[in-house]
Amino acid sequence: MDNFHSLLESSAAEHGHLCPGQVVGVRMAMLGCRLIGMDQPKRIDQIKKLLIYVEMDRCTADAVAHVTGVRLGRRSLKFVDYGIMAATFMNLEAGESYRVISTEAARDLAQVYAPEFATRSQRQIAAYQRMPDNVLFRVQEVRVTIDEFDLPGPTRRKVACSRCGQLIRDAREMILEGRPVCKPCTDQSYFTNARDIAWNDMGWSPCRRHENPSGTPTAHKAAGTLMNTN
Ligand SMILES: [Zn+2]
Ligand SMILES: [Zn+2]
Repeated sequence: MDNFHSLLESSAAEHGHLCPGQVVGVRMAMLGCRLIGMDQPKRIDQIKKLLIYVEMDRCTADAVAHVTGVRLGRRSLKFVDYGIMAATFMNLEAGESYRVISTEAARDLAQVYAPEFATRSQRQIAAYQRMPDNVLFRVQEVRVTIDEFDLPGPTRRKVACSRCGQLIRDAREMILEGRPVCKPCTDQSYFTNARDIAWNDMGWSPCRRHENPSGTPTAHKAAGTLMNTN
């Protein structure tokens, strides 16, 4: 793993700004990885064993993902909407999990650790780099029971919605009157009033066969990717 300062720099660049959450997130990830014995979490042999639950969708979550390489699309990053500045680091192979929680005291102590800065944000950015881990964080050893349908790896089940026909992956269907139904076809969707529309240039594609001057098909690779139903 890179050192703290280079991780903070690259994390802030990816996130878009340097903020207190980047400092806390980088340190949270470094501590979490250390607790579960992963010094190179982005290396292929380690990333396959790593799973992280983040409990907030704020700045800190980006830094945790940046440092560890966990990704929503790899199913190694789980978002649980608790609104709490905490993350649980799981070593799937060892069966160990540690929940690292940002302390409330740390915010009050920013003034003590970095009094020379003018704004609260500047004080926090500096202070969170100076505080020892045990002032910035509490750690809990926890047990996480993970459903097989939430694990990384190939899709374990696909069923078609009995109302709209869309494929539902990983057992996310509801059963209504004995038949599988996708969430958007129930009243549990986050949206309402859906209607299909036409849009401008709706026939556009990035690599159309007839535009290739040599006459050889160029679309097969992209088409192959699109055919992958995972
Ligand atoms: Zn931020
Ligand atoms: Zn449906």
